[in-house]
Amino acid sequence: MYCPRCQTQNPDYQKYCSSCGCDLQQGASASSGTQQQQYTPQPQYQPYDQSYQNQPADGAATMSLVFGILGVVLCAIFSIPALVQAKKAIRLGSTDGKAKAGQILGIIGAVLLGIYVVSSLIGLVVVLIAASQGL
Ligand SMILES: [Zn+2]
Repeated sequence: MYCPRCQTQNPDYQKYCSSCGCDLQQGASASSGTQQQQYTPQPQYQPYDQSYQNQPADGAATMSLVFGILGVVLCAIFSIPALVQAKKAIRLGSTDGKAKAGQILGIIGAVLLGIYVVSSLIGLVVVLIAASQGL
């Protein structure tokens, strides 16, 4: 939209001219009143659309956090989907800390899983040695 006073081009949603500060709404209502009404909601819809686009990422981030907690608290196996979901959330553009937290919990769970596997293998070896010596 062009300012009626100084002819500077301004974004359609702007109420006042960026150059001279003249009221653009007043100038627009005289020339294109209906067009102005169509343009006004646009900046309100844009952030809504962005949050809608981020919903799969947010869902994956939440899933990774849930799996991450389950992986640490309940069973280390859950840390594998936690890492997968965290990676997916980050790829989809998740910006909040949930995906990061899920990833960290997933790594902790994976380390716990590694320790569990190693310690059970050691336990198995110890039992086997004890059994062979007993016989
Ligand atoms: Zn102006």
